[in-house]
Amino acid sequence: MSLCCQAGGWGRAELKLYEFQAKRVFAQGGISVPQGEVVQDPEDAARVAERLGRVVVKAQVHVGGRGKAGGIKLANTPAEARQYAAGMLGRPLKGFTVNYALVEEAQNIAAEYYLGITIDRNADKAIAMLSSMGGVDIEEVAATQPEKIAKLHIDPAWGPWDFQLRDLVARAALDPRVSREIAAVIRKLYNVFLTSDASLAEINPLIVTADGKVVAADGKFDVDDNALFRQKELLKYREVSEADPIEAEAAKLGVAYVRLDGNIGVIGNGAGLVMTTLDILSRNCGKAANFCDLGGGAKAETVRQDLGLVLMNPNVRGVLFNIFGGIVRCDEVAKGIIDATGTMDIKVPIVIRMSGTKAAEGRELLKGTNLIPAATAQEAAQKIIELVKGWGG
Ligand code: GDP
Ligand code: MN
Repeated sequence: MSLCCQAGGWGRAELKLYEFQAKRVFAQGGISVPQGEVVQDPEDAARVAERLGRVVVKAQVHVGGRGKAGGIKLANTPAEARQYAAGMLGRPLKGFTVNYALVEEAQNIAAEYYLGITIDRNADKAIAMLSSMGGVDIEEVAATQPEKIAKLHIDPAWGPWDFQLRDLVARAALDPRVSREIAAVIRKLYNVFLTSDASLAEINPLIVTADGKVVAADGKFDVDDNALFRQKELLKYREVSEADPIEAEAAKLGVAYVRLDGNIGVIGNGAGLVMTTLDILSRNCGKAANFCDLGGGAKAETVRQDLGLVLMNPNVRGVLFNIFGGIVRCDEVAKGIIDATGTMDIKVPIVIRMSGTKAAEGRELLKGTNLIPAATAQEAAQKIIELVKGWGG
């Protein structure tokens, strides 16, 4: 989910669906979605526009905020649809190559709402969130006007009761003419969320059209990887999901590397420590772009390789090393990092937390370099988050 520091998680292994796939799942669950087709060729975009009339051409990538980045374009004619699709397909958008464009009948939007369902791990329940302030800036709404987002915890045994849904809709203060319809959409979304083992189902915006219809105009849907053995229907979506070239490279090198969707690169020694680092970042409202496990390695070569992988992701605006000296000594790791970074052209800030064996010696070695030492993980997280902000991230 895109609401920072809310329920939900950072980097559990998930199958993320593209918008066009999410909308197929929604449609199967009985939720209205605009008519449209996914295309890979600008000529096909023109053909779809020929059939549907005024269309919106939408770049399919696994990140939000496409509208602001030029990934959503209204086309009045087939020629315009062709031109916009040609401008997106095969090109990068927010760090991802666009392989698919969704061409949909344009909607006349009267209102844009937000609807999301995720797991609140603190409550051990699914939580539905509904807001009258949907559209592109829901994160800002969550930060500045959290009271504008109405929430409902859903009992896992009973599911949502009708009166609870009606109450949720009332609290969100939506257009009363669509209250019933919205409550029905929430129930349908919860049903697909539940039956698909989803970790996130989000519709932003859930629109009301000028003629009063409630339509899912965007869709995000993440499925828990651990459930894929029983979600065979959804597995087919994995094949067309974009293969990450960095993950492919890491696999070749035998390095444990995972891509996430934030802007901080995380490197640590040991899987548990890396996981904890992600939690600490998340608790401070920071988001990891990816992470890499150094394993027991301290050598400059290992650091160079892992740092190289982490920096290949263009979203990385800063790197956080979290090193615990156990068998491996912190001063050795410090030497490795200094050695490696000395030979690399690195433009982003690097914060290094060291604790354990020879930590003080390790931090001493960092003095006089551009590397920024930190004694605790909390301090390190705060430092890198601050620096990344200054970096325009
Ligand atoms: P996102 O920016 O990646 O979240 O992409 P969305 O699919 O949510 O689209 C962003 C914004 O574009 C929406 O909030 C709408 O305001 C606008 N938009 C999307 N589809 C249409 C459409 O069919 N008609 C109109 N008028 N606006 C649209
Ligand atoms: Mn959206």
